[in-house]
Parts: sequence; C-alpha cells; structure tokens
Amino acid sequence: MGKPTIALKNLDWIVTQDDSRRILKGYSIYIEDGIIADVSTGSIPEADYTLQGGWKAAIPGLVNLHTHAAMTLLRSYAEDMPLEEWLRTRIWPAERKLTADLCYLGALLACMEMARSGTTCFLDMYYHPEESVKAALKVGMRIVASVGIIDTFDPEDRRSDLKLRIYSRRSAERFIDYVKSLGDDRVKAALGPHAPYTCSDDTLMWVRDRSERENLLVHIHLAETRGEQSRFEKMYGRREIEYLDSLGFLTDRVIAAHCVWLSPREIEIIASRRVKVAHCPISNLKLAVGGVAPIPDMIGKGVVVGLGTDGAASNNSLDMFETMKATALIHKWYRWDPTTLPAWRVLEAATIQGYRALGIDKAGYIGIGARADIAIIDLRKPRLQPIHGAEGLISNIVYACSGSDVHSTIVDGEPVVWYNRIVNIDEEEVYERVADAIRVFREA
Ligand SMILES: [Zn+2]
Repeated sequence: MGKPTIALKNLDWIVTQDDSRRILKGYSIYIEDGIIADVSTGSIPEADYTLQGGWKAAIPGLVNLHTHAAMTLLRSYAEDMPLEEWLRTRIWPAERKLTADLCYLGALLACMEMARSGTTCFLDMYYHPEESVKAALKVGMRIVASVGIIDTFDPEDRRSDLKLRIYSRRSAERFIDYVKSLGDDRVKAALGPHAPYTCSDDTLMWVRDRSERENLLVHIHLAETRGEQSRFEKMYGRREIEYLDSLGFLTDRVIAAHCVWLSPREIEIIASRRVKVAHCPISNLKLAVGGVAPIPDMIGKGVVVGLGTDGAASNNSLDMFETMKATALIHKWYRWDPTTLPAWRVLEAATIQGYRALGIDKAGYIGIGARADIAIIDLRKPRLQPIHGAEGLISNIVYACSGSDVHSTIVDGEPVVWYNRIVNIDEEEVYERVADAIRVFREA
C-alpha cells in the first residue's frame, strides 16, 4: 500500500527553512509518496487528506536531538535534587524495575507528547531501544534509537565489570540486527555509550570501531556537570573531550549531548572533529549543572548544534517550543547580550540542524523534493496574535508558541496528528495503562 496524498491548501504562512530561508504567504503544499511534490500558489490536485490553511503556519518538523523517551514514566518522580544524588538514589533504582513492556508504554506516551507538539523525529538513548522503535512506529514518528551502554556504575572503577561489558555489546549487536531487519526508512540505529565516566576505555574503543565499520552514529553524554569534568581530570589527568580524542573516539558520527563544561581547547577539538552537539538547556537549568554550554562559540566555529529536551525526568516536558525559548533566553542572559542567538537561529537548530546532525538528507526544510516532515501551527491563539510580518511570525514561534498550539503533524508524508487528534493510537487507553503501570515504582 502506498502512502496517502496530502494537500495543505492556502496556508497563511510557510516557514521553508530552505537555502534562502524564504517565508511564503498564501502557498499550498502537495505531498505524495512521503515527499513534498509541490509548493505553489496555483491549484494543487485533490488528495486523500486536505487541510485548509487559513490561520495556519507550516514549519519543518522539529527534531528532539536528545531524549530518553521511556523516562516519561518517571516524570515528576524525583525532583529538586543534585544530579548525582538524583541518579543514584532515585533514578537508577527505579530504572532497575523497568521491563521491556514498561519501556514500550513510556515511549508511547513520549511519542504522543512529541507528535502533538510538532516533533517529527527524535534521537533516543535508553534500555530496550527496540521498544522505543516500536512505539515510534506505532505513533508514526521518525526515530534514531541508540542502545544505551553502561559498563560500570562506579566512575572510580572504569576497568569495569566484564560481565556487564559482554552483555552491553551483545545487546547492541542484537539491536543493530533488529533495526536492519525492519528495513524501515524512518528508523536508524545508533550506539549509545552513556558517558565517559560510565564506560570503560575498552567499551569506548569497541564503540569507535563498530561505528566506523558500519558508519553508525554514536550518541553520548559529555561534560554535563562541572563535578564530572573535575573528577575525570583528577583521575585521568585530562578533560573528557581531550581524553576521548586521544582514543580516536571523536568523529563526525558522534552526537554529544550537553557539552556544558568545555575549555576553549575542547571547543576547538569538537569543531575540528566535526562532532555534533545536542544542547539541552532546560535539563541543564533544572539539574543546576552550574554553567551554560558555550553554544554561541560552537556555532561560531561551524559546529552543527541541535536541541534536545533530555528525558522527562529532568525537564519535565518534551515540548521543543519550550526548549527553543529557553535556548534563546539562556544565552542572552548569560552573555548580557540580547543579540545572541536570534529567534531564526534557534528555529534553525531545532529543525534543519537536527536533521543534519542525524545525517538524514532532504529533511528539515519545506521545498519540492524534501521529505514531508511538517508541523502545522494553529495561529488562532491569543498568544500567537498579532503577527508583525515574517520576522514577527518567527518570534511568535520561538518566544510565544506552545506545543499545544500544534494543529497537525505530518511525518514521512503521513498524518500523525491531524486536526488535533492522534491518528494511529487510542490515547485514552495509553493514559489508563500508564496510570496503572506506575504502581511498580511505589512498591518498596
Ligand atoms: Zn540524557
């Protein structure tokens, strides 16, 4: 069965994010076989799905470049604690109770939330990554899923547990085979070594080699907190990025989440190795990591920077509009400079740069021949009026819009949210199942 045709008629606005960053008024979009077949002011053919575009803005779908989807189950479970205490006393013990079924359910809730707020693609890292993939496909999202690899919970002991090491590698291999067997263009597998302080050198080098052999993306947490960097430096005599570079780990296939505590030299290394960065300002603020990631410096050096929410346990929402606003604000505040990261630059990070980081071509913009990953915003909302021209529209999107203003979301040419309804899933049933499932975290 082929994909449906979709006609988005007479849209008030289209934010194309194409090479010349055109913003169009009164154009229509025609989608066929997952691809944008036409963008024009003329008439477009009749389609299986038709959307009337009055009071609507179409933007490229948003990319959540760092999350742990199944952690929606732990949303608001442990709050207002320092990162390490939070991980050790609350999150890691709760995660030991997570089964594959629970991960599926949590990921399903995450995909519903993301689709409803205009996210079309996400980079996930967690246990049971095949469950995130199943949930993404059930809802209709595009996903790059990395299999989480941890081979020690004790940073002092990075020689690590042999059994855990063997288990991690086997599960990674199984997952890569699983994704290959799906043969679905919407799914990509990546390797997800959790962080330099939870993986042995041996594992990091295994990841490096495995990634090189099959051109796999690698997703890792880097330099999230000051304490993490200083402990690492004490133990290894080098900072995390310098250390990973000495292992030959850093390549253009690596997507590093956070990158808050970087020295100027580490920024140089990231730029020269063409590492991609997933900036997660809300998680950094909430966990009080103490610094602000030097994102403007990295962008200045040509680093591809996308945006992520991080997991729902440290955000607590997966709304990329909130993350865009936080990104624009945090850097202006930190640098005492309101011209830092203008709204259009932030929207770029959340769309085209996200797809670029994931190596997904022909995506992140609205133009003929592009993949049809699109979010439609309902402009008939008090917070989105008035619109002072194209620049005012972009400012409204970044500074005033909420995920709940998204009216429809299209992924790979299929409606995933259509006229405010999730198309492929019974949402009520998911809410009930989640409410029931979280009892496991209350038991001693
Ligand atoms: Zn994370």
